[in-house]
Amino acid sequence: ATTRFEAQDLGREHLGHILENDAIQLGLLDRVAELPNIELVSGVTIESSELGSDKRMLTLSDGSVMSADLVVGADGAQSQMRRIAGIGQFSESYTQHAMVVSITYKGGVEQGTWQAFRPEGPLAFLPLPRIDGVNYGSLVWYDSPNTIAQLKGLSDAELRQKLQAIYPQELPDIEQILQVASFPLAKSHAQQYSGERIVLAGDAAHTINPLAGQGVNLGFMDAAVLIEELGKALINDQALSDRAVLKNYEKQRRMFNQLMMSGMDAFYYGFSNRSAPVQIIRNIGLGLAHRSGPLKQKVLEYATGLQ
Ligand SMILES: Cc1cc2nc3c(=O)[nH]c(=O)nc-3n(C[C@H](O)[C@H](O)[C@H](O)COP(=O)(O)OP(=O)(O)OC[C@H]3O[C@@H](n4cnc5c(N)ncnc54)[C@H](O)[C@@H]3O)c2cc1C
Repeated sequence: ATTRFEAQDLGREHLGHILENDAIQLGLLDRVAELPNIELVSGVTIESSELGSDKRMLTLSDGSVMSADLVVGADGAQSQMRRIAGIGQFSESYTQHAMVVSITYKGGVEQGTWQAFRPEGPLAFLPLPRIDGVNYGSLVWYDSPNTIAQLKGLSDAELRQKLQAIYPQELPDIEQILQVASFPLAKSHAQQYSGERIVLAGDAAHTINPLAGQGVNLGFMDAAVLIEELGKALINDQALSDRAVLKNYEKQRRMFNQLMMSGMDAFYYGFSNRSAPVQIIRNIGLGLAHRSGPLKQKVLEYATGLQ
């Protein structure tokens, strides 16, 4: 079964935008440089952290000490701040690995993304911007760790042939393979989003299966809600580290993050299951999603962050 999602189904010009992580990070660094109230410290690591009577202290690897009312741990899946806060997490590895291949491709710029779900794992094509007349894109191939290791061992010419054979004819021809990387996949969810004068955001608090490319969006929404709650605390003369303030942030984010994690699992387990009844239910679901206006609209609203 095939399902097409169009921006016009939501009355919008675009369903979403595909941005390279480097571009987002460089954009954010440019913005940080413009803000006089932010000091950027780099090239050091955190050696230790102690809780003072009214601050949290961080001792850095250059010997300097920083103190803050509240430390935001946005330091990724292996978060040091989560460990310092003593916050445990639920975590589980998926049996699939992901291989990401950066390519250039022939023809005009593709306006849509494409994804196929197979029992071995999804395949995806993500177009990136055209620069100096060259179309850049990204191919993602999920499969067993063994298959991914074999694919990574191929020469560029052999891999190009494999990719061209497994991706459908309607996708553009690959011109050149630029880079190949692979990743193990895991999901995790922190037991709490905050500890003593520490609050977690983004992958430090939760990681999900990246099959729908929603990880960064969840982190952005964490940041937006956290900023709002801390802003309200300042107006109400509450301490930024007030448990009620931080719990309020968690209350708004945890359920949504869990819902997205479970949604990704429904795709993961639904499509990697080879049993006939599951396949029938799955195909009926996809068929319904394709035909039913309201259902399709709901799926799109969640995926684009409008809900
Ligand atoms: C294979 C794969 C594909 C993915 N594809 C997508 C996708 O298409 N779309 C999408 O939205 N998401 C995708 N994701 C998920 C996405 O990468 C993450 O959700 C996102 O990067 C999380 O952002 P973050 O800022 O919370 O953490 P990170 O991006 O991990 O950033 C954490 C930062 O903290 C720094 N740091 C870590 N420890 C310390 C420390 N002790 N002191 C100081 N700094 C520290 C790190 O250097 C890093 O800069 C994918 C993930 C994987 C594994």
